[in-house]
Amino acid sequence: MGDAWGRPLRADVPVTCVLDAHVHSPILGSPAEANEYLRGLLSMGLGGAVILGIPPTRELLSTVTLDDVSNEYERNRDLVERFAAAVSSKLTPEALYLTAERFIDGYCQFKRHSEISALSNFELLYPANLSLGTDELARSLEEALRRGFGGFKVISTFFFRRLDDPAVETVIEVADSNDVPVTVHSGCDPGIWELPKYCKYGDPSRLDPILSRHRNVRVVLAHAGSYSAIAPGVFMEEALDLVRRYPEVYADTAALPPELAEMVLRDFPRGKVMYGSDYPAVADEDPRRYMEDVFLTMESAGHPESELEEYAQGTAGRVFSIECSDWI
Ligand SMILES: [Zn+2]
Repeated sequence: MGDAWGRPLRADVPVTCVLDAHVHSPILGSPAEANEYLRGLLSMGLGGAVILGIPPTRELLSTVTLDDVSNEYERNRDLVERFAAAVSSKLTPEALYLTAERFIDGYCQFKRHSEISALSNFELLYPANLSLGTDELARSLEEALRRGFGGFKVISTFFFRRLDDPAVETVIEVADSNDVPVTVHSGCDPGIWELPKYCKYGDPSRLDPILSRHRNVRVVLAHAGSYSAIAPGVFMEEALDLVRRYPEVYADTAALPPELAEMVLRDFPRGKVMYGSDYPAVADEDPRRYMEDVFLTMESAGHPESELEEYAQGTAGRVFSIECSDWI
């Protein structure tokens, strides 16, 4: 499929260009693999993307046993059966554990970051290793900026830590002194983090005291606090509260069902919400189709063109200092 010049057809969306504020990268072993990955992103119709690293937390996951997960599952069996019957086969203790392992092994660190960071419409966020002591963590973050990363990613769920953890404050401090943005995971996560015992680490309200001490840092609450297979919208109110009160706190709608993404765009302050997919972590989705579904849902809900442009590219462009490029 392509146009008269053999270029891939653009996705059918009612905006001029789309930046995806939330994608992941598989492990890229060679420059050819990195190019192939970028070509894949562009051919789904994106004009640029923010690529988020996943930190190495394999050892931490191994401290949780399948028994722990089974016990927690039993405690919440009612919830799963009542609210997630359609996906319950993916929510058995074994499936949750395997998904967690697949995530951690599949999307680790970047090897080819320098090739990607040279492109002006891609930004790479370095995954903070919250297990390090604060001094070592700060050093690793400074080093990442020297290597071409343009900001940081915090995913406290994988570390079984709350967002008021001192390590999280270290990340925000280093971002503050270098004027770079931080994407902070909020909401549950696929795998064992779907269960309340582990999902609680994604509660964004815990970030409040840290934000109150660092008001200038651009912070994006990934998933607008809302990702959960069992309880979609799980921490949406908590995320909304922070986005309302702090001028530099934003949200992305990555991995949310289109109707939920539309609720976020409708209810959150104007200019604070950005499009994201979570590609390729949300494996069953055809990414181009997901993007078209999201924008179609927004358009039919009556959001004006100017608001959709901000959602598609304006806000992410400003926060991450990247330019949406229709074709490169
Ligand atoms: Zn993600």
